[in-house]
Amino acid sequence: MKFQTPTGMHDILEEDLVYFKKIQKACESIAGFYGFKEIQTPILEQTEIFEKGTGATSDIVQKEMYSLRTKGGDHLTLRPEGTPGVVRAYIQHGMQNAPKPVNMWYMGPFFRHERPQAGRYRQFNQFGFESLGVVSPIIDALIIQIFYVTLQSLGFKDLMVELNSIGCSQCRPYFKKSFNSYLRSHQSSLCADCKQRAKKNPLRIFDCKQEKCQSIKNGAPQVLDSLCKPCHEHFKAVLEFLDELDLPYSLNPYLVRGLDYYTRTVFEIMEQTKNGESQGSLVGGGRYDNLAKTLGGKDTPACGGAAGVERIVNLMKKRQKKAPTEGVCQVFLAQVGELGRKKSLKLLEDCRALKLNVGHALHKDSLSSQLRTADTHGCKYVMILGQKEALENKVIIREMETGKQKTVALDKAAKEIKKRIA
Ligand code: AMP
Repeated sequence: MKFQTPTGMHDILEEDLVYFKKIQKACESIAGFYGFKEIQTPILEQTEIFEKGTGATSDIVQKEMYSLRTKGGDHLTLRPEGTPGVVRAYIQHGMQNAPKPVNMWYMGPFFRHERPQAGRYRQFNQFGFESLGVVSPIIDALIIQIFYVTLQSLGFKDLMVELNSIGCSQCRPYFKKSFNSYLRSHQSSLCADCKQRAKKNPLRIFDCKQEKCQSIKNGAPQVLDSLCKPCHEHFKAVLEFLDELDLPYSLNPYLVRGLDYYTRTVFEIMEQTKNGESQGSLVGGGRYDNLAKTLGGKDTPACGGAAGVERIVNLMKKRQKKAPTEGVCQVFLAQVGELGRKKSLKLLEDCRALKLNVGHALHKDSLSSQLRTADTHGCKYVMILGQKEALENKVIIREMETGKQKTVALDKAAKEIKKRIA
């Protein structure tokens, strides 16, 4: 094949789109219930938003951004994640003066130049929920709960929330200091990547999967031990809310998440497999109390997260053998002969006006082949518009299961079907 999708990017064909649509619907319904308004931000944003927000030392900014310079000289980047764009919009559109919290959700494509592997793409979709303007720990719990129930509504059962607190601008420097001095004394035993991380973004060492770094991680000071009193109390309250919600969670002292803007609570949600292994996170997020200020806005506490749509779809497909069947037609319109085919177009429009979901194969000539198609669609009724019926302005309605037939007037056929289905 001469032309193919770029590495790490893929077409989403109809058989997968049904899952995407199901996820979109679940988000819409849950967002409606919890009072989150949809927002769509541009796919390109000023590069600086990510450099300042996501952080110059993060993997995303260092290695993974698709950045370009426009003919006009602007530096733009294909968005690698959603939060900085949402916060930019919050500041730009005067939402800083709106009643708090300002709750928003989104779903759309994101781009990261990562090494393609299972569940990791260069173009992928995320849905995210963001709540801006409220410092209370109940918001952290609510955000986690919203992702949890969204996944549950999509059929996920054995979910686990992992969480940690990485402190704030007051207490994190103390932790960084003690962690850095610990790293200096173990510098020589780190893997090559972590030696670099130790210089640029030491907390990223907690993400390292290399065998030789595990014992260094295990012996390292833990960020939870150096939280200041307000951060400690905030985290304790988040856990109490999660207890109240009966949400299964576990504390993961290594969960730091690689982005600069996170403060206090950070979390991930994954599905546990039978042997206790997880297949990577489905959702990641946390509190980001400094991001709005970093991007030129007012001091705005906030919390949010994002879920990987492709990863969710892959697991849904694995679990469910059948694609979601929403929207499958209960009626099929079969036509025979030139006049039958001509008149079928008007009948189809009658059905659309009554919001009937009708299957058809207008290009086909053979009745038996059309009936076979109706059968594979699982249609309950078939409307047959043959040459004779077309001449008499009539239609045969056949019940597929019993084979019972009735002839009705052409202009009454759609109404008759509607009545039977109801
Ligand atoms: P992050 O924005 O890195 O916190 O990721 C949030 C979620 O998006 C993850 O839990 C994954 O489910 C998904 N995700 C992140 N990166 C990718 C990627 N390259 N390909 C597919 N899904 C991704």
